[in-house]
Amino acid sequence: MIQVNENYSKLKASYLFADIAKRIKVFQTTYPHKPIIRLGIGDVTEPLPPVCIQALHEAVDEMASRETFRGYGPEQGYDFLREAIAKHDFQARGADISADEIFVSDGAKCDTGNIQELFGAKVKIAVPDPVYPVYVDTNVMAGRTGKNTNGRYAGLVYLDGTVENGFVPAPPKEPVDLIYLCFPNNPTGAVATKEQLTAWVAYARKNKALILFDAAYEAFIRTPGIPHSIFEIEGARECAIEFRSFSKTAGFTGTRCAFTVIPKDLVAYTKKGEKVPLHPMWTRRHTTKFNGVSYIVQRAAAAIYTKEGKRQVKKIIDFYLGNGKIIRKAFAKAGYDCIGGDNSPYVWVNVNGKKSWDFFDKLLHDAQVVITPGAGFGKDGEGFIRVSSFNSRENVEEAVKRIVKAL
Ligand code: PLP
Repeated sequence: MIQVNENYSKLKASYLFADIAKRIKVFQTTYPHKPIIRLGIGDVTEPLPPVCIQALHEAVDEMASRETFRGYGPEQGYDFLREAIAKHDFQARGADISADEIFVSDGAKCDTGNIQELFGAKVKIAVPDPVYPVYVDTNVMAGRTGKNTNGRYAGLVYLDGTVENGFVPAPPKEPVDLIYLCFPNNPTGAVATKEQLTAWVAYARKNKALILFDAAYEAFIRTPGIPHSIFEIEGARECAIEFRSFSKTAGFTGTRCAFTVIPKDLVAYTKKGEKVPLHPMWTRRHTTKFNGVSYIVQRAAAAIYTKEGKRQVKKIIDFYLGNGKIIRKAFAKAGYDCIGGDNSPYVWVNVNGKKSWDFFDKLLHDAQVVITPGAGFGKDGEGFIRVSSFNSRENVEEAVKRIVKAL
């Protein structure tokens, strides 16, 4: 008899964005003539930078001739991309990362979801709350949690993000083995200082723990002194893996390219306490289960590291950050405190004690603007909403006009 993985039955039944879509559908059926503006889902709206388009065209032409055609490439990524990443994203910032420590993939979602395969079934896991749901759900699927009661899974250590700690939780008192951190944060837009990350690295080293650092929104950091990578922190090579993505950096959400950094020094332990390096384990996993990102997409990704590519990427991100500024200003004007939107595409709004789904309904009905209720990201997200800067300037300006009027 074929049995199912019953851990799947522990997953919370509905998916946040499906719930949102349902409410929008009901609204649109009732009021078909009221145009909705979406500041909800975190998908980009601006097209790929022109350097990427040019690189794509050139790479497509290479595929058209026998001499330059490419079939299967190296699973870990082509050297031209891995070398560009190591040089521009890490070494240029003083982070000691080499090209062969970079694994190119088709998404940070898959990587953050798949990485837990490397770890034991009983590891103690700490996750922030509010949180990007992938970290939690993939561990639920793997059987590392108990049941969900009142929005929290038994067996996980939740790191509370609050107004008091600026949504940057400090290390817990108790020892844990695996820690998920995400900065700039989705959903709160919070960033961690060098001191805060140094405390996490010290904690991880002391407890022989591992930090999984999701830096998918790194390109939005503008405040000087805020680390762009966990590997800017001394000692992080011994205790951290980093995830990056071209999705939000260069509009690759539909084009798909990302990478994971696993230092060669990094180890986990057997039950007996023997050290096992993780770099060869992930190499084995990646080469067994993944066949590489397409050549043309890797050429497009590499184009962002040219001088012109950097300029174009900065321009697009500056544009989204400009939207963030407008959104923050509007909520402040209406009497609501916000964080984020300055080093991140997300503005996290404190809705003054109201329920986040009630606020969602209010903005949908009174302003025809869709946002994301904070409660969808965890218990600590209740009382907040996430507003995304990913939209056209025209839509953002119209949305905030309506929001200010409705509030
Ligand atoms: N990590 C975080 C924190 C995200 O918010 C997202 C996407 O929204 C991802 C990873 C997924 O990135 P990718 O498009 O590379 O799969």
